[in-house]
Amino acid sequence: MQDIVLKKGKEKSLLRRHPWVYDTAVAKAGEKGAKIAAGEMVRVVSHDGRELGFGGWSPASTLRVRMFTYAGQGEPQPGFLTQRIARAVKAREALLARTTARRLVFAEADGIPGLVADMYGDWVVTQFQSAAAQAHQDEIVRALMESTGARGVFDRSDAATRKREGLEEHVGVLAGEEPPQIIEVVEDGVKYGVDVRVGHKTGFYVDQRESRLAAQNLAREFKERTGRRLRALNCFCYTGGFSLALAAGGAAEVVSVDSSAEALSRAQDNARLNGFDEGVCKWVEADVFAYLRQMREAGETFDLVILDPPKFASSHYHVERAARAYKDINLNGLRLLRGGGDLFTFSCSGAIDPELFQKIVAGAVIDAHREAWALGRFGAGVDHPLLMTFPEGEYLKGLHLKLCE
Ligand code: SAH
Repeated sequence: MQDIVLKKGKEKSLLRRHPWVYDTAVAKAGEKGAKIAAGEMVRVVSHDGRELGFGGWSPASTLRVRMFTYAGQGEPQPGFLTQRIARAVKAREALLARTTARRLVFAEADGIPGLVADMYGDWVVTQFQSAAAQAHQDEIVRALMESTGARGVFDRSDAATRKREGLEEHVGVLAGEEPPQIIEVVEDGVKYGVDVRVGHKTGFYVDQRESRLAAQNLAREFKERTGRRLRALNCFCYTGGFSLALAAGGAAEVVSVDSSAEALSRAQDNARLNGFDEGVCKWVEADVFAYLRQMREAGETFDLVILDPPKFASSHYHVERAARAYKDINLNGLRLLRGGGDLFTFSCSGAIDPELFQKIVAGAVIDAHREAWALGRFGAGVDHPLLMTFPEGEYLKGLHLKLCE
């Protein structure tokens, strides 16, 4: 096994068990003339020869090593990935009481950097996003089949991150049976059809489960509190996640906006699947930035506005432009709210931290000349746990704002 020697001072993050070694931290990679294969296990040592742990080598990526073990833990033993997968799957068992759509493996948080595995009904859908995860694909797939009893494992390794790792895209069955065209899942009483072949991520935003439940509950409580049924605007609705949760909670009308005709068509199928009244769910194909302005000019108002946009900042370089985009939709979303109305607003950009996001939203509140309370914060569910040594895992954040009347 080859040693990766770090530059002086670059051992600090590893001693705090942060799992990434950047290319810029590496002083020497292996013996002179040695070629280390993509995904190969390497030993990482400090400039003065202290063992810092073991990880997988990614020659094409700026994240040159992703760690599996740390100082004092020794070399990973054969079967360690099987054990980590079994542990990850077991930790998510309780969620089955609420949903058949769950994340089983959340990469770094589960000790397998670069591996995402979600389960929809009887199928597991994977994303291999590091050379090391890819190199261990056979063991990982076997472990997923064994620990879940799944009917099949389908691979959706077509994310942009593959390219940065020097890996080819791959979409297709890795084990067991082909999944059906649409897998039907049930989450907190609402049915969704998931297209694992072409849908975003692995097909569905499992990470918004808690916020969808909050939306469902808000619609229900609104009726009890006011005697009226809620009118909502769901921006960036994708396949109708929040829209259907609101309809299930008894909303009178949910106007849902997305720029993708395919996503909207799936959303409409999902509404039919639940037998929701056609008058409740309205689907609009439009650009949200323009649509919010249009609604204001038309004098429309809502009791609840949801803003769950795509990742506006893909890296630190795009933070400023992204901040302006978040500010714009939040400002124009707030302008459509009735007094006492609620805003659910999200950012899934890892480069925008919770504090900055809160500042951006506060700026929008000021510019909208409204007063607002944050009643709560949103984040991904328990199947996306935040590993205490890896703060980057907290990419999704949201705020529940309520306008003062
Ligand atoms: N809220 C969804 C996930 C949103 S994903 C859920 O809970 O399932 C982001 C969505 O925004 C995608 O469906 C994409 O098509 C849409 N989108 C991206 N840019 C847009 C724009 N400018 N206007 C409208 N929709 C947009």
